[in-house]
Amino acid sequence: MSPTKKKTIAIIGGGASGIFASIRCAEIAKEKDIDVNICVFEATTSFLRKVRISGGGRCNVTHHLFDIKDFSLKYPRGQKELLSPLQKFHASNTIEWFENRGVALKHESDGRMFPVTDNSETIIDCFLKETHKHKVKLKNKTNVTAINKLQNGKIALSINKDESFIADSVLIATGSKPLGYDLAKSLGHSITEIAPSLFTFKIADPVLENLSGTSFTNATLTLNIENAKPFAETGALLITHWGLSGPALLKLSAWAAREMMHADYKAKIIVNWLSIENLSDAENLLKDIKNSNTKTSIGNAYPKALTKRFWLQLLVKCSISKEKNWSEISKNELNQIIENLIHCELSILGKSRFKEEFVECGGVDLKEINLKTMESKICSGLFFSGEVMDIDGITGGFNFQSAWTSGWIAGGNMALQESGNY
Ligand SMILES: Cc1cc2nc3c(=O)[nH]c(=O)nc-3n(C[C@H](O)[C@H](O)[C@H](O)COP(=O)(O)OP(=O)(O)OC[C@H]3O[C@@H](n4cnc5c(N)ncnc54)[C@H](O)[C@@H]3O)c2cc1C
Repeated sequence: MSPTKKKTIAIIGGGASGIFASIRCAEIAKEKDIDVNICVFEATTSFLRKVRISGGGRCNVTHHLFDIKDFSLKYPRGQKELLSPLQKFHASNTIEWFENRGVALKHESDGRMFPVTDNSETIIDCFLKETHKHKVKLKNKTNVTAINKLQNGKIALSINKDESFIADSVLIATGSKPLGYDLAKSLGHSITEIAPSLFTFKIADPVLENLSGTSFTNATLTLNIENAKPFAETGALLITHWGLSGPALLKLSAWAAREMMHADYKAKIIVNWLSIENLSDAENLLKDIKNSNTKTSIGNAYPKALTKRFWLQLLVKCSISKEKNWSEISKNELNQIIENLIHCELSILGKSRFKEEFVECGGVDLKEINLKTMESKICSGLFFSGEVMDIDGITGGFNFQSAWTSGWIAGGNMALQESGNY
Protein backbone atom coordinates (compact mmCIF):
# COMPACT_ATOMS: atom_id res chain seq x y z
CA MET A 1 0.00 0.00 0.00
CA SER A 2 1.38 3.45 -0.82
CA PRO A 3 1.58 6.12 1.82
CA THR A 4 -1.58 8.22 2.02
CA LYS A 5 -0.67 11.23 4.11
CA LYS A 6 2.30 13.53 4.50
CA LYS A 7 2.66 14.88 7.98
CA THR A 8 5.29 17.17 9.45
CA ILE A 9 6.08 16.54 13.09
CA ALA A 10 8.34 18.75 15.18
CA ILE A 11 9.78 17.61 18.46
CA ILE A 12 11.26 20.34 20.64
CA GLY A 13 13.99 18.80 22.81
CA GLY A 14 16.40 16.01 21.91
CA GLY A 15 16.50 14.53 25.38
CA ALA A 16 15.23 11.23 26.75
CA SER A 17 11.54 11.77 26.10
CA GLY A 18 11.78 13.65 22.79
CA ILE A 19 14.05 11.06 21.17
CA PHE A 20 11.96 8.15 22.48
CA ALA A 21 8.82 9.85 21.14
CA SER A 22 10.42 10.37 17.71
CA ILE A 23 11.18 6.64 17.41
CA ARG A 24 7.67 5.60 18.43
CA CYS A 25 6.19 8.15 16.05
CA ALA A 26 8.25 6.79 13.14
CA GLU A 27 7.38 3.20 13.98
CA ILE A 28 3.63 3.83 14.15
CA ALA A 29 3.77 5.85 10.94
CA LYS A 30 5.51 2.95 9.22
CA GLU A 31 3.06 0.41 10.61
CA LYS A 32 0.06 2.46 9.49
CA ASP A 33 1.63 3.55 6.23
CA ILE A 34 1.55 7.22 7.12
CA ASP A 35 4.17 9.43 5.47
CA VAL A 36 5.88 11.52 8.12
CA ASN A 37 8.69 14.03 8.27
CA ILE A 38 9.93 13.99 11.87
CA CYS A 39 12.37 16.68 13.03
CA VAL A 40 13.86 16.83 16.50
CA PHE A 41 15.15 20.28 17.45
CA GLU A 42 17.80 20.33 20.15
CA ALA A 43 19.10 23.62 21.52
CA THR A 44 22.52 22.32 22.58
CA THR A 45 25.24 20.63 20.57
CA SER A 46 24.46 17.12 21.80
CA PHE A 47 21.42 14.92 22.04
CA LEU A 48 20.52 12.88 25.13
CA ARG A 49 22.91 14.75 27.40
CA LYS A 50 21.13 13.74 30.61
CA VAL A 51 20.94 10.12 29.52
CA ARG A 52 24.72 10.20 29.11
CA ILE A 53 25.42 11.51 32.62
CA SER A 54 22.53 9.70 34.28
CA GLY A 55 22.96 7.15 37.04
CA GLY A 56 26.63 8.07 37.41
CA GLY A 57 27.22 7.31 33.67
CA ARG A 58 25.38 3.96 33.87
CA CYS A 59 21.82 5.19 33.12
CA ASN A 60 19.25 3.87 35.56
CA VAL A 61 16.70 3.18 32.81
CA THR A 62 13.73 2.04 34.88
CA HIS A 63 12.81 0.18 38.06
CA HIS A 64 12.23 -3.53 38.58
CA LEU A 65 8.69 -3.14 39.86
CA PHE A 66 5.82 -4.50 37.84
CA ASP A 67 2.70 -3.66 39.81
CA ILE A 68 1.43 -0.51 38.12
CA LYS A 69 -0.34 0.82 41.23
CA ASP A 70 2.82 0.35 43.32
CA PHE A 71 4.89 1.91 40.55
CA SER A 72 2.68 5.00 40.42
CA LEU A 73 3.16 5.51 44.17
CA LYS A 74 6.77 6.47 43.44
CA TYR A 75 5.71 9.80 41.92
CA PRO A 76 5.22 12.66 44.39
CA ARG A 77 3.66 14.63 41.54
CA GLY A 78 1.58 12.82 38.91
CA GLN A 79 0.86 9.72 40.99
CA LYS A 80 -2.83 9.42 40.13
CA GLU A 81 -2.53 10.77 36.61
CA LEU A 82 0.24 8.35 35.59
CA LEU A 83 -1.82 5.26 36.38
CA SER A 84 -3.50 5.07 33.00
CA PRO A 85 -0.42 6.02 30.89
CA LEU A 86 1.56 3.34 32.75
CA GLN A 87 -1.04 0.75 31.73
CA LYS A 88 0.02 1.47 28.15
CA PHE A 89 3.78 1.52 28.62
CA HIS A 90 5.31 0.31 31.83
CA ALA A 91 8.68 -0.97 33.14
CA SER A 92 8.09 -4.39 31.56
CA ASN A 93 7.48 -2.69 28.19
CA THR A 94 10.70 -0.72 28.63
CA ILE A 95 12.65 -3.92 29.26
CA GLU A 96 11.07 -5.55 26.21
CA TRP A 97 11.61 -2.44 24.06
CA PHE A 98 15.34 -2.46 24.75
CA GLU A 99 15.63 -6.26 24.49
CA ASN A 100 14.00 -6.19 21.05
CA ARG A 101 16.69 -3.77 19.98
CA GLY A 102 19.57 -5.80 21.36
CA VAL A 103 20.02 -4.02 24.71
CA ALA A 104 19.80 -6.29 27.73
CA LEU A 105 18.96 -4.73 31.10
CA LYS A 106 19.76 -6.04 34.57
CA HIS A 107 18.46 -5.12 37.97
CA GLU A 108 20.28 -4.50 41.22
CA SER A 109 19.14 -5.56 44.69
CA ASP A 110 17.44 -2.19 45.27
CA GLY A 111 15.39 -2.57 42.07
CA ARG A 112 17.28 -0.08 39.89
CA MET A 113 17.71 -1.27 36.30
CA PHE A 114 20.75 -0.56 34.12
CA PRO A 115 22.06 -1.80 30.77
CA VAL A 116 24.20 -4.91 31.40
CA THR A 117 27.13 -2.95 30.00
CA ASP A 118 26.81 -0.48 32.92
CA ASN A 119 27.34 2.24 30.34
CA SER A 120 24.81 4.88 29.31
CA GLU A 121 26.42 5.00 25.84
CA THR A 122 24.69 1.66 25.16
CA ILE A 123 21.32 3.38 25.55
CA ILE A 124 22.39 6.37 23.48
CA ASP A 125 23.79 4.18 20.69
CA CYS A 126 20.52 2.24 20.61
CA PHE A 127 18.43 5.42 20.34
CA LEU A 128 20.63 6.98 17.68
CA LYS A 129 20.62 3.77 15.64
CA GLU A 130 16.81 3.72 15.76
CA THR A 131 16.43 7.38 14.77
CA HIS A 132 18.85 6.81 11.89
CA LYS A 133 16.98 3.69 10.75
CA HIS A 134 13.70 5.60 10.68
CA LYS A 135 15.20 8.69 9.06
CA VAL A 136 14.26 10.97 11.94
CA LYS A 137 15.97 14.31 11.31
CA LEU A 138 18.06 15.31 14.32
CA LYS A 139 18.91 19.02 14.34
CA ASN A 140 21.26 20.20 17.05
CA LYS A 141 22.09 23.81 17.91
CA THR A 142 18.49 24.69 17.05
CA ASN A 143 16.89 26.59 19.88
CA VAL A 144 13.13 26.91 19.52
CA THR A 145 12.40 30.39 20.80
CA ALA A 146 8.70 30.89 20.02
CA ILE A 147 5.65 28.89 19.04
CA ASN A 148 2.39 30.03 17.39
CA LYS A 149 -0.81 28.34 16.38
CA LEU A 150 -1.72 29.35 12.82
CA GLN A 151 -5.21 29.96 11.43
CA ASN A 152 -4.91 26.88 9.21
CA GLY A 153 -4.43 24.70 12.29
CA LYS A 154 -0.70 24.20 11.81
CA ILE A 155 1.90 25.26 14.35
CA ALA A 156 4.81 27.61 13.57
CA LEU A 157 8.11 27.46 15.41
CA SER A 158 10.72 30.22 15.51
CA ILE A 159 14.18 28.69 15.53
CA ASN A 160 17.36 30.41 16.62
CA LYS A 161 17.14 34.03 15.53
CA ASP A 162 15.72 34.04 12.06
CA GLU A 163 14.36 30.68 10.93
CA SER A 164 10.86 29.29 11.08
CA PHE A 165 9.38 25.83 10.76
CA ILE A 166 5.75 24.88 10.16
CA ALA A 167 4.47 21.58 11.57
CA ASP A 168 1.19 19.68 11.74
CA SER A 169 1.96 18.47 15.26
CA VAL A 170 4.48 19.65 17.82
CA LEU A 171 5.79 17.88 20.91
CA ILE A 172 7.22 19.99 23.71
CA ALA A 173 9.79 17.71 25.40
CA THR A 174 12.05 20.39 26.79
CA GLY A 175 12.67 18.86 30.23
CA SER A 176 13.08 21.45 32.95
CA LYS A 177 14.44 24.27 30.75
CA PRO A 178 12.59 27.55 31.52
CA LEU A 179 12.17 28.33 27.82
CA GLY A 180 10.08 25.17 27.43
CA TYR A 181 7.67 26.40 30.10
CA ASP A 182 7.50 29.77 28.32
CA LEU A 183 6.62 28.06 25.03
CA ALA A 184 3.77 26.19 26.74
CA LYS A 185 2.59 29.37 28.46
CA SER A 186 2.54 31.29 25.19
CA LEU A 187 -0.08 28.83 23.91
CA GLY A 188 -2.26 29.27 26.99
CA HIS A 189 -0.93 26.62 29.37
CA SER A 190 -0.35 27.11 33.07
CA ILE A 191 2.81 26.00 34.83
CA THR A 192 2.59 24.73 38.39
CA GLU A 193 5.18 25.89 40.88
CA ILE A 194 8.70 24.76 39.94
CA ALA A 195 10.99 23.52 42.70
CA PRO A 196 14.13 21.37 42.78
CA SER A 197 13.62 17.76 43.84
CA LEU A 198 16.02 14.96 44.84
CA PHE A 199 18.51 16.89 46.90
CA THR A 200 20.58 16.18 49.99
CA PHE A 201 20.51 18.10 53.26
CA LYS A 202 23.27 20.31 54.63
CA ILE A 203 23.62 19.69 58.35
CA ALA A 204 26.41 20.70 60.73
CA ASP A 205 26.07 18.71 63.94
CA PRO A 206 28.64 17.00 66.21
CA VAL A 207 26.89 13.66 65.71
CA LEU A 208 27.88 13.68 62.02
CA GLU A 209 31.42 15.04 62.40
CA ASN A 210 34.17 13.08 60.62
CA LEU A 211 31.70 10.32 59.77
CA SER A 212 31.45 10.85 56.01
CA GLY A 213 30.71 7.47 54.38
CA THR A 214 28.97 5.95 57.41
CA SER A 215 25.72 4.31 56.37
CA PHE A 216 22.64 2.96 58.12
CA THR A 217 20.62 0.23 56.44
CA ASN A 218 17.30 1.13 58.00
CA ALA A 219 16.81 4.56 59.54
CA THR A 220 13.50 6.34 60.10
CA LEU A 221 13.40 10.03 59.21
CA THR A 222 10.80 12.61 60.15
CA LEU A 223 11.01 16.01 58.53
CA ASN A 224 9.42 18.89 60.37
CA ILE A 225 9.02 22.03 58.29
CA GLU A 226 7.39 25.13 59.72
CA ASN A 227 3.78 25.53 58.54
CA ALA A 228 3.74 22.13 56.83
CA LYS A 229 2.63 18.64 57.72
CA PRO A 230 5.48 16.31 58.80
CA PHE A 231 7.00 14.00 56.17
CA ALA A 232 8.41 10.57 57.06
CA GLU A 233 10.53 7.96 55.27
CA THR A 234 12.35 4.78 56.27
CA GLY A 235 15.33 3.24 54.53
CA ALA A 236 19.05 3.50 53.91
CA LEU A 237 20.77 6.67 55.08
CA LEU A 238 24.26 7.97 54.43
CA ILE A 239 26.37 10.53 56.27
CA THR A 240 28.29 12.75 53.85
CA HIS A 241 30.91 15.40 54.47
CA TRP A 242 28.21 18.09 54.29
CA GLY A 243 25.30 16.36 56.04
CA LEU A 244 22.93 13.55 55.11
CA SER A 245 22.13 11.69 51.89
CA GLY A 246 21.05 8.17 50.88
CA PRO A 247 17.83 6.72 49.41
CA ALA A 248 15.54 7.48 52.37
CA LEU A 249 16.66 11.10 52.53
CA LEU A 250 16.37 11.64 48.77
CA LYS A 251 12.83 10.29 48.84
CA LEU A 252 12.03 12.67 51.66
CA SER A 253 13.42 15.58 49.61
CA ALA A 254 11.16 14.63 46.70
CA TRP A 255 7.99 14.38 48.77
CA ALA A 256 8.74 17.67 50.54
CA ALA A 257 10.25 19.50 47.53
CA ARG A 258 7.85 22.44 47.50
CA GLU A 259 7.50 22.79 51.26
CA MET A 260 11.30 22.80 51.67
CA MET A 261 11.63 25.51 49.02
CA HIS A 262 9.02 27.64 50.80
CA ALA A 263 10.99 27.22 54.04
CA ASP A 264 14.25 28.23 52.28
CA TYR A 265 15.60 24.75 53.05
CA LYS A 266 15.60 25.38 56.77
CA ALA A 267 13.88 22.66 58.80
CA LYS A 268 14.38 20.05 61.50
CA ILE A 269 14.93 16.38 60.81
CA ILE A 270 14.46 13.73 63.46
CA VAL A 271 16.55 10.63 62.89
CA ASN A 272 15.86 7.26 64.44
CA TRP A 273 19.16 5.70 63.40
CA LEU A 274 18.09 2.08 63.85
CA SER A 275 14.32 2.46 63.31
CA ILE A 276 13.72 1.29 66.87
CA GLU A 277 9.98 1.41 67.18
CA ASN A 278 9.46 2.53 70.75
CA LEU A 279 11.17 3.86 73.82
CA SER A 280 10.98 0.60 75.78
CA ASP A 281 12.75 -1.32 72.97
CA ALA A 282 15.56 1.24 73.06
CA GLU A 283 15.72 1.06 76.86
CA ASN A 284 15.90 -2.74 76.77
CA LEU A 285 18.62 -2.70 74.12
CA LEU A 286 20.83 -0.39 76.18
CA LYS A 287 20.03 -2.06 79.51
CA ASP A 288 21.13 -5.41 78.03
CA ILE A 289 24.42 -3.88 76.89
CA LYS A 290 24.88 -2.22 80.27
CA ASN A 291 24.16 -5.38 82.25
CA SER A 292 26.55 -7.53 80.24
CA ASN A 293 29.33 -4.91 80.19
CA THR A 294 29.42 -3.36 83.65
CA LYS A 295 33.21 -3.32 83.71
CA THR A 296 33.65 -2.18 80.13
CA SER A 297 33.99 1.46 79.10
CA ILE A 298 30.92 2.82 77.32
CA GLY A 299 33.08 3.61 74.28
CA ASN A 300 33.81 -0.08 73.82
CA ALA A 301 30.39 -1.71 74.15
CA TYR A 302 27.56 -0.47 71.95
CA PRO A 303 24.65 -1.70 69.77
CA LYS A 304 25.92 -4.14 67.11
CA ALA A 305 24.10 -2.38 64.30
CA LEU A 306 26.13 0.81 64.83
CA THR A 307 29.73 1.50 63.91
CA LYS A 308 32.12 2.35 66.74
CA ARG A 309 32.93 5.71 65.10
CA PHE A 310 29.27 6.69 65.07
CA TRP A 311 28.74 5.53 68.66
CA LEU A 312 31.66 7.65 69.84
CA GLN A 313 30.19 10.70 68.06
CA LEU A 314 26.83 10.01 69.68
CA LEU A 315 28.59 10.07 73.07
CA VAL A 316 30.23 13.39 72.12
CA LYS A 317 26.78 14.80 71.28
CA CYS A 318 25.53 13.61 74.68
CA SER A 319 28.66 15.02 76.41
CA ILE A 320 29.42 11.61 77.95
CA SER A 321 33.05 10.53 78.29
CA LYS A 322 33.82 7.35 76.32
CA GLU A 323 36.15 6.31 79.15
CA LYS A 324 33.33 5.97 81.69
CA ASN A 325 32.38 2.43 82.62
CA TRP A 326 28.86 1.31 81.77
CA SER A 327 28.24 0.81 85.51
CA GLU A 328 28.85 4.55 86.06
CA ILE A 329 26.28 5.69 83.52
CA SER A 330 23.43 7.52 85.25
CA LYS A 331 19.75 7.21 84.36
CA ASN A 332 19.87 10.71 82.98
CA GLU A 333 22.83 9.87 80.72
CA LEU A 334 21.12 6.70 79.55
CA ASN A 335 18.03 8.71 78.64
CA GLN A 336 20.15 11.15 76.72
CA ILE A 337 21.69 8.34 74.67
CA ILE A 338 18.26 6.84 74.00
CA GLU A 339 16.92 10.24 72.93
CA ASN A 340 19.77 10.70 70.43
CA LEU A 341 19.47 7.14 69.20
CA ILE A 342 15.79 7.19 68.38
CA HIS A 343 14.90 10.88 68.29
CA CYS A 344 18.03 12.70 67.17
CA GLU A 345 16.94 16.20 66.17
CA LEU A 346 19.19 17.90 63.62
CA SER A 347 18.88 21.34 62.04
CA ILE A 348 18.86 21.47 58.26
CA LEU A 349 20.80 24.50 57.05
CA GLY A 350 20.30 24.16 53.31
CA LYS A 351 20.33 21.78 50.38
CA SER A 352 22.88 20.35 47.95
CA ARG A 353 22.08 18.76 44.62
CA PHE A 354 22.33 14.98 44.48
CA LYS A 355 24.84 14.52 41.68
CA GLU A 356 23.58 11.12 40.53
CA GLU A 357 20.05 12.21 39.68
CA PHE A 358 18.01 15.30 40.16
CA VAL A 359 14.86 16.71 38.65
CA GLU A 360 12.61 19.72 38.92
CA CYS A 361 9.14 19.24 40.30
CA GLY A 362 6.37 21.22 38.66
CA GLY A 363 5.59 21.91 35.02
CA VAL A 364 2.65 22.00 32.64
CA ASP A 365 -0.54 21.49 34.63
CA LEU A 366 -1.75 17.92 34.03
CA LYS A 367 -5.36 19.07 34.03
CA GLU A 368 -4.62 20.75 30.69
CA ILE A 369 -3.27 17.58 29.03
CA ASN A 370 -5.27 14.65 27.71
CA LEU A 371 -3.20 11.89 29.31
CA LYS A 372 -4.64 9.27 26.96
CA THR A 373 -2.81 10.92 24.06
CA MET A 374 -0.54 13.52 25.73
CA GLU A 375 -2.21 16.16 23.55
CA SER A 376 -2.93 19.60 24.93
CA LYS A 377 -6.57 20.22 25.83
CA ILE A 378 -5.99 23.88 24.98
CA CYS A 379 -4.21 23.75 21.62
CA SER A 380 -4.87 20.92 19.19
CA GLY A 381 -1.79 19.40 17.57
CA LEU A 382 0.37 20.33 20.57
CA PHE A 383 1.70 17.46 22.71
CA PHE A 384 3.80 17.18 25.87
CA SER A 385 6.09 14.51 27.29
CA GLY A 386 8.74 14.09 29.97
CA GLU A 387 9.82 16.43 32.72
CA VAL A 388 8.20 19.54 31.21
CA MET A 389 4.95 18.17 32.66
CA ASP A 390 4.05 18.35 36.34
CA ILE A 391 5.27 14.77 36.94
CA ASP A 392 8.35 13.72 38.84
CA GLY A 393 9.44 10.56 40.56
CA ILE A 394 11.69 9.58 43.41
CA THR A 395 15.18 8.35 42.59
CA GLY A 396 15.57 4.84 41.15
CA GLY A 397 14.71 5.03 37.42
CA PHE A 398 11.19 6.42 37.85
CA ASN A 399 11.94 9.69 36.07
CA PHE A 400 13.18 7.98 32.93
CA GLN A 401 10.20 5.61 33.00
CA SER A 402 7.89 8.61 33.01
CA ALA A 403 9.87 10.07 30.07
CA TRP A 404 9.58 6.80 28.09
CA THR A 405 5.88 6.31 28.95
CA SER A 406 4.77 9.81 28.00
CA GLY A 407 7.09 9.92 24.96
CA TRP A 408 5.76 6.59 23.72
CA ILE A 409 2.15 7.72 24.02
CA ALA A 410 2.77 11.19 22.55
CA GLY A 411 4.88 9.84 19.66
CA GLY A 412 2.29 7.28 18.62
CA ASN A 413 -0.58 9.71 18.79
CA MET A 414 1.26 12.41 16.88
CA ALA A 415 1.63 10.00 13.98
CA LEU A 416 -2.01 8.97 14.14
CA GLN A 417 -3.59 12.32 14.84
CA GLU A 418 -4.59 13.42 11.36
CA SER A 419 -4.72 10.03 9.73
CA GLY A 420 -8.21 9.22 10.95
CA ASN A 421 -6.84 6.47 13.20
CA TYR A 422 -6.67 8.75 16.19
C1 LIG B 1 22.74 14.17 36.68
C2 LIG B 1 21.41 13.53 36.44
C3 LIG B 1 21.30 12.15 36.51
C4 LIG B 1 20.06 11.55 36.32
N1 LIG B 1 19.97 10.18 36.40
C5 LIG B 1 18.79 9.58 36.23
C6 LIG B 1 18.67 8.17 36.27
O1 LIG B 1 19.67 7.45 36.37
N2 LIG B 1 17.42 7.63 36.17
C7 LIG B 1 16.30 8.40 36.00
O2 LIG B 1 15.20 7.85 35.93
N3 LIG B 1 16.39 9.73 35.91
C8 LIG B 1 17.59 10.33 36.01
N4 LIG B 1 17.68 11.69 35.92
C9 LIG B 1 16.47 12.45 35.57
C10 LIG B 1 16.26 12.32 34.04
O3 LIG B 1 17.48 12.60 33.40
C11 LIG B 1 15.18 13.27 33.54
O4 LIG B 1 14.00 13.07 34.30
C12 LIG B 1 14.91 13.00 32.06
O5 LIG B 1 16.07 13.25 31.31
C13 LIG B 1 13.78 13.88 31.55
O6 LIG B 1 13.68 13.69 30.16
P1 LIG B 1 13.16 14.86 29.23
O7 LIG B 1 13.29 14.38 27.83
O8 LIG B 1 11.86 15.34 29.68
O9 LIG B 1 14.18 16.05 29.48
P2 LIG B 1 15.73 16.15 29.11
O10 LIG B 1 16.33 14.80 29.06
O11 LIG B 1 16.28 17.16 30.02
O12 LIG B 1 15.73 16.71 27.63
C14 LIG B 1 15.22 17.98 27.29
C15 LIG B 1 16.02 18.48 26.11
O13 LIG B 1 15.34 19.62 25.54
C16 LIG B 1 16.32 20.55 25.13
N5 LIG B 1 15.63 21.85 25.04
C17 LIG B 1 15.08 22.54 26.07
N6 LIG B 1 14.49 23.68 25.60
C18 LIG B 1 14.69 23.67 24.27
C19 LIG B 1 14.32 24.59 23.22
N7 LIG B 1 13.63 25.69 23.47
N8 LIG B 1 14.68 24.29 21.94
C20 LIG B 1 15.36 23.15 21.65
N9 LIG B 1 15.75 22.26 22.61
C21 LIG B 1 15.41 22.52 23.89
C22 LIG B 1 17.36 20.48 26.22
O14 LIG B 1 18.60 21.01 25.79
C23 LIG B 1 17.41 18.97 26.49
O15 LIG B 1 18.35 18.32 25.67
C24 LIG B 1 18.91 12.33 36.07
C25 LIG B 1 19.02 13.71 35.98
C26 LIG B 1 20.26 14.31 36.16
C27 LIG B 1 20.37 15.80 36.04
